[in-house]
Amino acid sequence: MDWRQVYVWVVLIIAGLASLGQSVAAAPLRQATVSEFEIGRSSEGRPITAWRFGDGPRKLVLVGNTHGFPEANTYTLAMLLIEHFRADPALVPASVRLYIIPTLNPDGLALGSRFNARGVDLNRNMNTTFDACPENDWQVTVQGAYGIVSDTGGAYADSEIESQIIRDFLVDASAAIFFHSNAGNVFPAACEHAPSIALAQAYASGSSYAYARRWEPYNITGGMHDWAGSLDIAAIIPEFITGDLPEFEENLGGVLAVLANAEALVPLPRERVVLGITLPEPIWRFWRMHGGYERFGRPLAPAATDDAGVTRQPFTTMVLELDPARIDTVAYIRALPLGLDVAPHDITLLPTPADARIFEETGAPLYGAFATFWQRAGAARVFGLPVSDEYEDLAADGERRIMQRFERAVFAYYPEENQVRLEPLGWYAVVRQRLDAAMTRHHLQ
Ligand SMILES: [Zn+2]
Repeated sequence: MDWRQVYVWVVLIIAGLASLGQSVAAAPLRQATVSEFEIGRSSEGRPITAWRFGDGPRKLVLVGNTHGFPEANTYTLAMLLIEHFRADPALVPASVRLYIIPTLNPDGLALGSRFNARGVDLNRNMNTTFDACPENDWQVTVQGAYGIVSDTGGAYADSEIESQIIRDFLVDASAAIFFHSNAGNVFPAACEHAPSIALAQAYASGSSYAYARRWEPYNITGGMHDWAGSLDIAAIIPEFITGDLPEFEENLGGVLAVLANAEALVPLPRERVVLGITLPEPIWRFWRMHGGYERFGRPLAPAATDDAGVTRQPFTTMVLELDPARIDTVAYIRALPLGLDVAPHDITLLPTPADARIFEETGAPLYGAFATFWQRAGAARVFGLPVSDEYEDLAADGERRIMQRFERAVFAYYPEENQVRLEPLGWYAVVRQRLDAAMTRHHLQ
């Protein structure tokens, strides 16, 4: 290297240090993330969007307009709040990630209905069986506005795409506020959920709405707030006083009261323990909301995080994966596609009936008991698409059974119980890993 090269390097280094100094000097203004994105589409294909403000670990989600057209004032409020926080994102504390969803029910809003486009009340469609209160469990026949009884709970819990979108979007939330009108009070998730009660009291004091310990007029089943509370998400419903005004000052006061005390009201995600094994909170919620022990079996090992920041945890039937690259999507937690790797043992292919649904993407059919189970237990979101025909093979219990491979699971039919069960793909993965390790040891010796 001659002196001219040395000179160039010295100049470059000085320039680099100088620009570093400038960027350090400019740092005090916190540049919080502000973005709008689509979370999913309604049953008629209208976008359901969210605005995000900030980058903190405490996820607070405001949900407008679950009840469509008659509660359009909650949509207007959400839009006004978005404008307010866009104008001054620094209102969101550094430890918080605030999301605002203007409408969870764009079809109802467009079609002039309280229900979604399929005639389902989205605030009666959630799977509320996780808590100790059976009276709020999901039912087809529900009480709606003014206590009017109708069969609008949906065909089964979480049957609606809008319910599935909010379910999967809240998997890593600490607190959720669902705007409704117009009973003029604020109430928490049922079943004595302390974080929801604290959140409702703070919102009431900030908004000047009356705090109500519970919704008295009639019994709500399959409610979104009760569903969230049962997964230990602090959840409340502010009911506006009027049916037509956004009541912006009141609700801004409520939201700011929550943000001012976010350390207590929007708790940090915390690890959960199942059968002595620690689970990251979003993985625990996914495991629980999609069927828990009965569906996934038990956790087999603690979660492990790789160099790319991806966390994986094996359960008996699946390995669940949390990928930070998928944050803010409904696929934040997903099962590994282990069904693609399963080698058939000694199979007999079964003929596909003429009326089976065929998936274009994979060319595989779906029908009968497997179709019903797949649809009701989480569909493509949980199991992926079918990738084989139905076949007979040895199942994990040693019996020959009717089975089918999916991207993220293998189904086996147990006629003696009329049940579909999942093959233990997570267990196989753990065993394979241990065998690989043992082979390597022997090889080295
Ligand atoms: Zn409502």
